Order: sequence, then structure tokens, then C-alpha cells
Amino acid sequence: MATGEGSVAEAMDVAGVAAAMPDAGLRFRAAASPNRGGTCRVPGDVRGIVIHSVEGTMASAISTFGKSGGSSAHYGIDVDGTVVAFVPEGDVAFHVAAFGNRPALNRGQPDWLPAYDGRWSSVNACTVGIELAGHAGRPFTAAQYAALASLCAGIATRWGFVPSRDRVVSHGSLQVDRSDPGDAFDWDALFAMVAAGMREAGVPGIDAPAADCLPDGDREVLEVVHALGADAAGVRGWVERLGAYEAQR
Ligand SMILES: [Zn+2]
Repeated sequence: MATGEGSVAEAMDVAGVAAAMPDAGLRFRAAASPNRGGTCRVPGDVRGIVIHSVEGTMASAISTFGKSGGSSAHYGIDVDGTVVAFVPEGDVAFHVAAFGNRPALNRGQPDWLPAYDGRWSSVNACTVGIELAGHAGRPFTAAQYAALASLCAGIATRWGFVPSRDRVVSHGSLQVDRSDPGDAFDWDALFAMVAAGMREAGVPGIDAPAADCLPDGDREVLEVVHALGADAAGVRGWVERLGAYEAQR
């Protein structure tokens, strides 16, 4: 498990993208989780954010997510507001079991959810998962709310969706055997801070690009593409041009 201090850009391996982002000022720490789906998420594929509580300390989450073959999330937020990066946003993390191969677990179905394709939970396929250190039903810290709001604003900006209440949801709202982050979670405070963060960062109007996906994405190419802020159609153009170049050689 790679660990270390670093900026948002370093944690995401997307040089140059963080400066204009609402979450550019967050303190980041990397603790890579092996539990991720090789995938090809480009803007439009990620449509929502799922908020969890660890039901323990951040150290326990780092230990759990570091063990191969188990669960993961993209980010954790510790009680002091430090953000732990477990899985790159372009990869699928394994944070929700509902809307996968056990339909009995399904609770409320968001209208933006794609159909289950037999690989992994369709929630995991199209969301970013964030784990708050602590327990459902107990209060989270002001530093956690502030970091979470910045992170939600940054994720929504990077992936091209509006971080409204139907897009930023609790694990408990999706899955019958989960209640996190619990009834004490202050959604009003979160959304007020998310909106303020978007305004402060001067994020322009967000037009969600059409859901689209490359057949087999190359990680390095996708990271460059994300850094350039290109959409799926742009990516395809680049791939076609690269293919033509290769054919000429
Ligand atoms: Zn959860």
C-alpha cells in the first residue's frame, strides 16, 4: 500500500487539473487500495456521490481497504479534515453492494442509475464513494463537513454533474441493510457549503456530457484526457487520430 503526503493533483495523478478545482486546498494523503475495477470512466460516466461512515477510525478503514479482495471507497475523510485517497476517481471502487448481484439489498433507486451490467454494482459503476471516519448516528466534525463539501464540489466539477440532493446520497438510502452516515448527518449544512464552495471557485454552469465510455481505456491516456477536461467524444477523436498515426508508420 503506497502512502505519503501530497496534493490533490498528485493523489489523482492528474497534473494541472487541481488548481481551478473547489477541492484544490484540501490536505491529501494517499493510501492506495487494491480493491478497484479496471474501467474507463470518462466525464459523463460518474453521475453521483455516495456518502458513508466508516463505523470506526480512519486507521481501521486504511487497514480494511488495504487488504486485497475486500471493499474500498475512493476517499476517506478523517476527523481533522485530511482526505485519504484510496482509489482514483476514474476507477470503480467497491463501496455499495446494492444494485448488483443481490437485488434483495436494493432500497431507493436514483433515476440516474444505469442498469446492472453483470460486472459490479451499478452504483459503484457510476459514483464516487466517500467514507467519513466515525459512526452513523454520532456527530461528524466541522473539519469533516468542510472537507466533504469541497470534495463533493470538486468531484461534481471534474465529472460534469450538479451536486444536488438527488446526486449526493447516503449509503443508507440505497441499501436495506445499511444506515450510514446516519440520521444525525446534517445534509442542509453540507449542501449549503457545497453551493458556497462552487460559487467561491467560480465554477461555470455545468453541462453534463452524454454518458459515453471508451471500450478499453488506457489509464495514462485517460488521465491526460481528464487533465485536458475533454469529453468522451473528444477522447474518441484523439484515439482515432492516434490510430491513423500508427497506421501510417
Ligand atoms: Zn456505507
